[in-house]
Amino acid sequence: MDFAHDDTTRQLAERARAFVDEHVVPAEPVLQEQLDATPDQWGFRPIVTELRERARAAGLWNLFLPGEHGAGLTNLQYAPIAEITGWSPRLAPVAFNCAAPDTGNMEVLHDFGTPAQQERWLEPLLDARIRSAFCMTEPDVASSDATNIGTRIRRDGDSYVVSGRKWWSTGAMNPDAAIFIVMGKTDPDAERHRQQSMILVPRDAPGVRVERALTVFGYDDRDHGGHAEVVFDGVRVPAENLLAGEGDGFAIAQARLGPGRIHHCMRALGMGERALALMTDRANERVAFGRTLGE
Ligand SMILES: Cc1cc2nc3c(=O)[nH]c(=O)nc-3n(C[C@H](O)[C@H](O)[C@H](O)COP(=O)(O)OP(=O)(O)OC[C@H]3O[C@@H](n4cnc5c(N)ncnc54)[C@H](O)[C@@H]3O)c2cc1C
Repeated sequence: MDFAHDDTTRQLAERARAFVDEHVVPAEPVLQEQLDATPDQWGFRPIVTELRERARAAGLWNLFLPGEHGAGLTNLQYAPIAEITGWSPRLAPVAFNCAAPDTGNMEVLHDFGTPAQQERWLEPLLDARIRSAFCMTEPDVASSDATNIGTRIRRDGDSYVVSGRKWWSTGAMNPDAAIFIVMGKTDPDAERHRQQSMILVPRDAPGVRVERALTVFGYDDRDHGGHAEVVFDGVRVPAENLLAGEGDGFAIAQARLGPGRIHHCMRALGMGERALALMTDRANERVAFGRTLGE
């Protein structure tokens, strides 16, 4: 496989880099001011909306999504862009509408959604009018092995009824997260990887309760909608909210999390590069005992 960047990637990466340097990095202190001024809010601050408008106008939008709905890039072409957005991880991915968990959720809707599901949920996500959450992990079971998921999705006439408790649902504290993709079991007696299904649960469906926010190493990530514990208490949704078929949930999870992990890794590389760049600058500027630290 040839890993060299092609012309499309090179040109796009140059534009993304220029945008991050010119618009995103200078916006970091603005974001901090806005966060300090609104400590109780979950979700995007005005600077994010401003950056999104600029990025969209510059053609830096939905770059993660292959196919006609997105920018048409492959993951290999998108990877270096994700790396560049890692230089400012709180702002650059959202500025480009390329932030988790919406990216993975849009991929699920793009790859497995019906035309009606795409019109209802994918279009507003691509347009950044709503946000979303992905509810797989559960407090009661080891969720790194997603075959353990215990939430039940029971068929009842023209509906499914969803019952279970999730946590680490990123973004769910944000009231703009209008749609939750929920993984649960439709048939606990089926073959191990065919017990699970995925279903679309609107946030405002009766029985959905966003209970509390979790923290990671002391951070609540409130500017990105946090990470929530969510209860689904006999939530009834129309049968057409199922994604693909009964038993397809595990395969959908694999398809969703694969590209998502590449995106996360590439952004982590970008963060590391920025840290190294800051350290190098410091070593060249800081003078001790008559010499720069670098010397
Ligand atoms: C910031 C953040 C955001 C998240 N966002 C979401 C989200 O949006 N939606 C969602 O559904 N989930 C989300 N998660 C949850 C995440 O996907 C789970 O935490 C992860 O899958 C692990 O599941 P678990 O917490 O149940 O750990 P467990 O499955 O209980 O695992 C416990 C530990 O055992 C280790 N382990 C497991 N198997 C092995 C093995 N074979 N060998 C060695 N070690 C092993 C694991 O690495 C882990 O350290 C998020 C988590 C974090 C921290």
